[in-house]
Amino acid sequence: MVKKTVFIFVVVFSFVAVSQEMRIGLFRKSKIAKVEMIVEKGVYEIFNDTAIICRLQEGEKVLLSYLSANVQVTKSGVIQGVASSFRIVPLMQNSVMELAPIQPALKKRHYNDGFEVSLEATSLKLINVVDMNNYLSGVIESEGGGGRHMEYYKVQALMSRTYALKNIQRHKKEGFQLCDGVHCQAYHSKLKHTPTIQQAVEATSGEVLVDAKNELVTSYFSANCGGQTCDAAYVWNTSVPYLESFVDTFCIHTRQATWEKRIKKSEWDAYLNKEFGLDKLGYELGDLKYNFTSDQRKAFYIHPSLGIPLRDLRQKFNLKSTFFSTRLEGVEVVISGRGFGHGVGLCQEGAMQMAFNGYTYQQIALFYFSNVEVIDYFRGNFFNQSIDQEQGL
Ligand SMILES: [Zn+2]
Ligand SMILES: [Zn+2]
Repeated sequence: MVKKTVFIFVVVFSFVAVSQEMRIGLFRKSKIAKVEMIVEKGVYEIFNDTAIICRLQEGEKVLLSYLSANVQVTKSGVIQGVASSFRIVPLMQNSVMELAPIQPALKKRHYNDGFEVSLEATSLKLINVVDMNNYLSGVIESEGGGGRHMEYYKVQALMSRTYALKNIQRHKKEGFQLCDGVHCQAYHSKLKHTPTIQQAVEATSGEVLVDAKNELVTSYFSANCGGQTCDAAYVWNTSVPYLESFVDTFCIHTRQATWEKRIKKSEWDAYLNKEFGLDKLGYELGDLKYNFTSDQRKAFYIHPSLGIPLRDLRQKFNLKSTFFSTRLEGVEVVISGRGFGHGVGLCQEGAMQMAFNGYTYQQIALFYFSNVEVIDYFRGNFFNQSIDQEQGL
């Protein structure tokens, strides 16, 4: 008898519901009364509550109008249906529809996948029912543009997906999940020019950032932290364990690393006196009130006891960041600053530099958010199984 051991290694992946649908409210800043929809790619069918009312081939278009508290669908001048809502469903993946608002006349936009058209007050409510990855690709291109490193786009995909899932209830009352404006995430188009973005979104499909409690992270980011990220508490008065301040040397030689602004001394004095009563302290600060050095992130100007938050100065004088020093030069207060934005969370220019230097997207995410983990949002659907089988021949 020959004894033979056969080792069978079975890997079973079961991806369940990795492709998720999002419902995004479109043209939220306008009250659309008439919109033309033109099929750019694929075939679409339009349904009312109960049945299909028409089919649209590539290049064909319909006009949707608000009419006496109903939606009217017209094709080539012929009314196809009048109802309170319609679903516009693609027959294949990655179909593309052009949306051209006629009343008011707005710039055309292009979106993937399906749509729902219903009513709100005296206008149409347009919802894009879109595959999560198609949505994220459109968002990343709308917000960041092209020409970046693949690993950087992967970090953006991770952040954007985490944001979308964390805020999925934000517009629940209005019947969709997120809007298309900066209130949620700018989404002005499907992906158009940057295939790398789609590759990055697909390579990280389903992945999100969670904190030590396994909760989705609030994925803050800003353009440039100036060499030290800002504690969330300095900006919003609330501490977040994974958003503490730390030194970032990746962004200090980039475009927006430093800046300078000059304010008239009289204007500076007037604001500090009016808002914080510096002229009523009972003692004179003299020129000390212009000599402020911040070699590291601080929350207050000069001294915390004066109670002058740097974020107030930033807002009042429209400064690029709260990370600055001041000095007096003649009749001007010279403000020398570092970074651009609130500085909390991921530093975009630093992250781009890390990607360029060869760090992976996971390393970049874990550098900017402490004690977080990258997980598959749909985890638990994958397991390994090995069978050591003895077989006699
Ligand atoms: Zn929104
Ligand atoms: Zn930075």
